[in-house]
Amino acid sequence: MAIGAGCYPIAIPFSVKQIVSNRDWIERSRAALWHPCTQMKQMEATPPLPIARGEGPWLIDYEGRRYLDAISSWWVNLFGHCHPRINAALRDQLERIEHVILAGGTHAPVVELSERLARLTGLSHAFYGSDGASATEIALKMSFHYWRNSGRPQKTGFVSLQNGYHGETLGALSVTDVAIFKDTYAPLLRQTHQAMSPDWRLAEPGETAEAYALRAAADLERYLAEHAETTAALIVEPLVQGAAGMAMYHPVYLQQARALCDRYQVHLIADEIAVGFGRTGTLFACEQAPSPGPAGHPLAVGEGNIAATRVADIADIVCLSKGITGGYLPLSAVLCRDAIYAAFYHDDSARGFLHSHSYTGNPLACRAALAVLDLIEGGKVIEANRDKAARFTALLAEVAAHPRVAHFRQAGMIWAFDVKGAGPGFARAWHAQALELGVFMRPIGHSAYFMPPYVIGEGEMQLMARVAAKLLDTVQAGPALA
Ligand SMILES: *Cc1c(COP(=O)(O)O)cnc(C)c1O
Repeated sequence: MAIGAGCYPIAIPFSVKQIVSNRDWIERSRAALWHPCTQMKQMEATPPLPIARGEGPWLIDYEGRRYLDAISSWWVNLFGHCHPRINAALRDQLERIEHVILAGGTHAPVVELSERLARLTGLSHAFYGSDGASATEIALKMSFHYWRNSGRPQKTGFVSLQNGYHGETLGALSVTDVAIFKDTYAPLLRQTHQAMSPDWRLAEPGETAEAYALRAAADLERYLAEHAETTAALIVEPLVQGAAGMAMYHPVYLQQARALCDRYQVHLIADEIAVGFGRTGTLFACEQAPSPGPAGHPLAVGEGNIAATRVADIADIVCLSKGITGGYLPLSAVLCRDAIYAAFYHDDSARGFLHSHSYTGNPLACRAALAVLDLIEGGKVIEANRDKAARFTALLAEVAAHPRVAHFRQAGMIWAFDVKGAGPGFARAWHAQALELGVFMRPIGHSAYFMPPYVIGEGEMQLMARVAAKLLDTVQAGPALA
């Protein structure tokens, strides 16, 4: 194990500190790794940040400098780094069983997690993968195979939203619509249809977010009216299109999309990979959709942790990942309606869903996920986040009003704004200058955003607000920085 790699503070003797410096890890990283989502040549100018350990929302480098993890380590970390409760759950699980095959085997953590996810979403029969993209693959294959098992093998098409993101393996990339990730691989991908995005930034002047969402739903209907016979599923990111730069939309779109999917017999896949587990202010983003009407779920608000609108009222299939383990271990889960599951339940093996991944339902990952659910449910986290969100939004008033800022937006624990006149080098320049001020950020194109762990406090919110206000004055946006 590398010196300082533990999650606990270690006093490193000065002589060792000299050897194990940030620079060593940067150089060895460059030589030994191929970093994700990175043009490696740009690493000469923008080196990776070597992190020795973490404490709550803070990342600490090998020279002892601290950086606020303002994007939750790529949207996965919910309760900060090295959380004592999650650490303890993992230590306990390590002494029992670290991993066991889930085809022909089972174990308490995966059963308990599946039961809890079913109770919270209203969907059931959790199928596990290892990351978000594998969850998307599972959902797409499951939908297609359901229709095939149901005597409608011609339903092979998928619809997603413009600027949507569902992962980068070939199936997931086929329903993703982000040119920089997709265009190069276009010859390898399935043809899919992209319906108009309800992203309210695209509304006409004077048009409300809701009116725009309804217009987007009408566009979806035009497509489904013509192509439902050959369409298996619509896949959407509920409420926030993360990789599009935290594009947000009115929840009425989800209600309309549900109604259309019922009318045209198309599955609705909710990709809650980024927005699940409280990120948008409810346990799942789908819960913010207006109730879909008399057919909707009859449970009343306030019945335990069960929301008025449940995931099952909107989605036939839900994909969960990212925050599911609090950012500790890779895990994804796909839950579906009983009717979907039932179409696979048969004497014929080939009618079964024979998909698999080696680490499916890993016990350590499931224990981390159970600890996360304990924290969310036991700590009234969603309620506490509402107060935090209101406070941070107030602290960002100066940023929201800055002349360079357009489309300031917020949903739960996500804040984003677009910076006017940002050129191609903007995101990297912002990232580098934020780091110098002790905050780790990673803007997407011209959109800067905060997606902090839920454990941030007043001082950290003040720091983020101060840094954003300052960078709006100092980060020049021109192409010279490219
Ligand atoms: C991150 C993400 C994925 C892909 O998850 P990975 O774990 O990166 O494969 C899919 N969908 C959405 C909405 C995401 O944000």
